[in-house]
Amino acid sequence: MSDKLNPRRDLLILGGGLVGMTLALAAAKKGISSHVVDRADPAELTAEGFDGRASAISTASWNLFSNIGLAEALEPHGCPIESIAVTDGMKPGRIDFQPEPHEGTPTDTLGRMFANRTLRLALFEAAKDEPLIAWHAKANVVERHRGEHGVSATLEDGTVLEASLMCAAEGRGSPTREEAGFSMAHWDYSHRAIIVGLTHEKPHDGVAWEIFYPDGPFALLPLLDDEQGRHRSALVWTVDESDAEGVLKLSERAFKHEIEKRMHGVFGEITVEGPRSSYPLSFQHTAKIVHHRLALVGDAAHGMHPIAGQGLNLGLRDVGALVDVLAEGMRLGLEPGDAQLLAKYEKWRAMDSLMVMGATDTLTRLFGIPGKLASAVRRFGMAGVQRTPMLKNWFMDEARGMSGDLPELLKG
Ligand SMILES: Cc1cc2nc3c(=O)[nH]c(=O)nc-3n(C[C@H](O)[C@H](O)[C@H](O)COP(=O)(O)OP(=O)(O)OC[C@H]3O[C@@H](n4cnc5c(N)ncnc54)[C@H](O)[C@@H]3O)c2cc1C
Repeated sequence: MSDKLNPRRDLLILGGGLVGMTLALAAAKKGISSHVVDRADPAELTAEGFDGRASAISTASWNLFSNIGLAEALEPHGCPIESIAVTDGMKPGRIDFQPEPHEGTPTDTLGRMFANRTLRLALFEAAKDEPLIAWHAKANVVERHRGEHGVSATLEDGTVLEASLMCAAEGRGSPTREEAGFSMAHWDYSHRAIIVGLTHEKPHDGVAWEIFYPDGPFALLPLLDDEQGRHRSALVWTVDESDAEGVLKLSERAFKHEIEKRMHGVFGEITVEGPRSSYPLSFQHTAKIVHHRLALVGDAAHGMHPIAGQGLNLGLRDVGALVDVLAEGMRLGLEPGDAQLLAKYEKWRAMDSLMVMGATDTLTRLFGIPGKLASAVRRFGMAGVQRTPMLKNWFMDEARGMSGDLPELLKG
């Protein structure tokens, strides 16, 4: 039974990561209330060094952040991605995705890079004063219940939180998804992404580099210059799982040398900044993302290789679609846990999710094939794309996340 301090709300969001938190804020914008439960301490989540990653935020995701009131807090921290250079190990025949300026209008970028910490801080700050969000931090759920008339979660301290719809936003290992018995397609890439910050001599000019090596992609993502005016980029270096421990333990000098070898001097002299962190990489996807009074969002529904920088963007499109469907249904007098609304959400997300997951997996495998012949075939294909503006425009629209049937909150 919910108590006076914790009255029944519309949504019970389990997991307050980037996706769960954005869902709570986007829902609140439409007058939909929520409980958000996260086992982590917000001070830890936003501490310097907790999540050293930076995320490429697509145009559509930026629209969502703007529409829920985060533009002012985020704008000064975003580094525009002016173009994307894709190369097969820096050999000749790369593709440059660079939007053409339209007459009279400034060039549309391909997204913006943000430190994950900046995104989390902006989300926490906005949620703090939002009465429609009840935030339960450092809380462990010991029991979940989905009944005929509503859902509930019992926390370790005995608090019972009630709502109409449960949303699982607990990331890849979502216990709520596991308990509900969703079946997942899952495979391990036997790869690990090593993350570190770089400062460098030459400016990056807003170029995001995707350099494909047979042992894994190597991505250099543009960040804003630091306070001392040093040029900065985020490195995501994918290595074989069996090499990961060794790479993480390399001396500063040897680590820098390995990075330089793969950069071919594009940014001149480099300095490795801060500690290295690493993330194991796998693929997981479920076509079914709803169950009785339960919706999956974000990585709880789909986890992919980070090479195309699409995981969070896909999760934010889940958020936009779910909130659109719920707001429309509630306007018509339906409650958020209504099965028809959940079916609509699942149908809306199915194609987009499958396409992005499939394309990312294919890209990862295609560039992982070793040998000169495979490289020649790839570069032949890339040269074809480079010469075909229509194809390039299609890829750029995908990167911006602006194609397909967009939820209202993701429109400009
Ligand atoms: C190296 C790397 C680079 C990436 N770069 C990009 C990029 O450039 N662009 C992009 O779009 N995506 C990128 N991604 C993907 C992106 O980071 C994820 O898709 C995104 O973080 C998923 O967010 P989420 O909120 O769904 O899950 P998570 O970030 O995993 O958050 C889950 C939350 O749930 C909480 N939780 C977990 N279990 C429980 C529980 N039992 N009870 C309560 N709370 C719980 C956790 O504390 C956490 O706060 C990248 C991923 C990696 C690994």
